Amino acid sequence: MRALVAGGAGFVGSHLCDALLADGFDVLCVDNLLTGRARNVAHLEANPHFSFLQQDICLPFDAQADWVFQLASPASPPRYLEHPIETMMVNAVGTQNLLEITERNHGRFLVASTSEVYGDPEVHPQVESYRGSVSCTGPRSCYDEGKRFAEALTMAYHRARGLDVRIIRIFNTYGPRLDPGDGRVVSNFLAEALRGQPLTIFGSGEQTRSFCYVSDLIAGILAVMKHDAGTGEVYNLGNPLERTMLDLVRVIQRELAVDLPLTYHPLPQDDPRRRQPDISKARAALGWEPKVALEDGLRRTADWFRTELASDAVTAGR
Ligand code: NAD
Ligand code: UDP
Repeated sequence: MRALVAGGAGFVGSHLCDALLADGFDVLCVDNLLTGRARNVAHLEANPHFSFLQQDICLPFDAQADWVFQLASPASPPRYLEHPIETMMVNAVGTQNLLEITERNHGRFLVASTSEVYGDPEVHPQVESYRGSVSCTGPRSCYDEGKRFAEALTMAYHRARGLDVRIIRIFNTYGPRLDPGDGRVVSNFLAEALRGQPLTIFGSGEQTRSFCYVSDLIAGILAVMKHDAGTGEVYNLGNPLERTMLDLVRVIQRELAVDLPLTYHPLPQDDPRRRQPDISKARAALGWEPKVALEDGLRRTADWFRTELASDAVTAGR
């Protein structure tokens, strides 16, 4: 079996490539390195079952694959705000190119959507049937609406062409290979804590997120893709344990044994006030649920960040 992982040089995609290779797949990683890094898959270069194609998936291309994973898209708020048009286009045109490739191969398709389709939610926790509260013109709309379009297009191919598709809505995920410079909260807090800098809180710090360790997410993605009855279905994948950003700071300070000052910055426009997945559907259909505690996941991520920040310092001649 051959899998195509679009966005495979990114944080989640590179872990998915590892897991598919371990499962016996041949893997084609397709990525234009807009927000991903070649070093995330450098350890796979010598593997004869792995190949890398540097390609913008918005441009026409073809490939042979039984399973197609659409993970290509900027994912961190600063990165999609920096690339709003590329973000909309990769979720629209890029997703369509991959749906066409899946159809030509009579394959199976999975698109990585996001909890952001629920916007600043009025229903809590968020269940798959909730339709969301999203601004279609606000700064985050390039991402939220791009993902909503990708979901709708995926369902259109399912209904009109009978394509075997699945949609996952990923909630905040962290772990090794999270780009220390990409601006997400876990990477920012860990990089600041390891550099001995003040921790930057946006707003009051009372807003909530639910953080999932990457190995739990990957197990969920594979379970969704393997589930024969999952065609045309949407699954929330995330850790249901909800935390405020101030809680997250406290856990990081404790686990890394640091006591750094906090610095407060304004809350970005349309920043969702709370977010927590209802994962009853994935639990019942797939027998999946996250296993890694936040403390353990943060320790493992911090270990990786230490090495990464040290090698960055060496590269920069510091
Ligand atoms: P990431 O930025 O690390 O990875 C995304 C990858 O897509 C990068 O390697 C990037 O270079 C690539 N890419 C972007 N545009 C492309 C294009 N036009 N052609 C080819 N490649 C392109 O982000 P991530 O955290 O690994 O996220 C992976 C997917 O999961 C994204 O679709 C994201 O929206 C979704 N997601 C992630 C999270 C999370 O917490 N990590 C949460 C919700 C959804
Ligand atoms: N945040 C923060 N400090 C940072 C980066 C982010 O307090 O250095 C907050 C941000 O305002 C949001 C939450 O942390 O409320 C999660 O932000 P992130 O960018 O990781 O992802 P989001 O869930 O907003 O897409």
